[in-house]
Amino acid sequence: MKSCAVISDVHANLAALEAILESISKDGVDRTLFLGDAVGYGPEPNECLDLLRNQAAVMVMGNHDSMVAGKSNIMRAGVYAREVIGWTRDVISIDNLQFLQKLPLVKYEEDFHIVHATPREPGEWNYIRTRLEAARNFRYFNTAICLTGHSHEPQIIELTAKGAVAYSYRKAVIKPDSRFIVNAGSVGQPRDGIPEASYIVIKNGLIEIKRVAYDILVTQKKMQEAGLPSYLISRLSTGK
Ligand code: ZN
Repeated sequence: MKSCAVISDVHANLAALEAILESISKDGVDRTLFLGDAVGYGPEPNECLDLLRNQAAVMVMGNHDSMVAGKSNIMRAGVYAREVIGWTRDVISIDNLQFLQKLPLVKYEEDFHIVHATPREPGEWNYIRTRLEAARNFRYFNTAICLTGHSHEPQIIELTAKGAVAYSYRKAVIKPDSRFIVNAGSVGQPRDGIPEASYIVIKNGLIEIKRVAYDILVTQKKMQEAGLPSYLISRLSTGK
């Protein structure tokens, strides 16, 4: 298995993305995989897409990418999300918009099934909230590991050989008989109560959740200047 860093839900937060990429450069991994939502919520969609297109070996489409690209119904999003999607459509470059429109919903890469939301119904943008939903989703991919994001809460869900579902929030050893649904959390807008940017490293038989502090004030100032909703600005400080 090639080693990799896994990042998701950047949401146009350049300061957070730069801090994560700096951290990844020290992890000594073979490549970086991106699980969707490059845009939405944050103030720098073009800068983040330019960086991701340059740095990520694999990219899939998130629900915000899809809404900006005109491929998912914007009315399913919350009022603040909708407002920023409108703003993003105004500022995004034609080249980046066309790139978003062509992103795949699912990618298969060696040992990984890669999708933004759920393997069961990738374009429906559902969440894996319960043990039952987790167990059900394990039936919809064939690889040992499924990589997901979308919830902005990093976690490792393990299905053991005996059929038990176990959760880890720091790290997990890749056992040959176990299968995993790994949620990378969010680079640009964590929601698990920890404001530090989140990502995953898979290396030497270990899946590890990592957190990186970044200059939140830099992003908040840019959001203010862009006139983005104050609720979205303040939530970065609490990670909720
Ligand atoms: Zn997201």
